[in-house]
Amino acid sequence: MTLSLGVSELETIRGYLFQDGRERMILALCRKSLFGVFRLARLFLPHDSDYAERTEAAVTLLAESAYPLIKQLRADGSLSFLQIHSHPAGYPAKFSSIDDRNNGFNTEDVREWNPRAEFLRMVLSRDDISAEYYDYRGGRFRPLALGRVDKLILSLRGESRSNLY
Ligand SMILES: [Zn+2]
Repeated sequence: MTLSLGVSELETIRGYLFQDGRERMILALCRKSLFGVFRLARLFLPHDSDYAERTEAAVTLLAESAYPLIKQLRADGSLSFLQIHSHPAGYPAKFSSIDDRNNGFNTEDVREWNPRAEFLRMVLSRDDISAEYYDYRGGRFRPLALGRVDKLILSLRGESRSNLY
């Protein structure tokens, strides 16, 4: 599976996530395009009051902050859920065990909101990025390829992120 981001989308994401030294989170809805590539459909940049916790090593949003997105996801089976968070304090752009249990919204929640929705997640450090999707059959996360919209061609599918950014 591939998630494709435009240059300006990525700038918006980075600009929001790296305002200070504590972790931040963005929630988004994605839609599968004609080529089977996910594109952003809606981006939610939380306010300070939407956070339950925000430190150098962890971030959690208040559940109710996501209600508008959850409502839209429930109503539209072509949407999937994307959770983005930052590691601004020098940790690499890799998902940690903290992320697996403390990311506010889990894989089962998403299928409860809509049985057709996929759960995608992305983590960014100041100079790197990685992404995964949840394989519900296999019961684990797998790498999600990232593509740039301005280079959106079918051959990007399945390639690693390293040659895309
Ligand atoms: Zn993390």
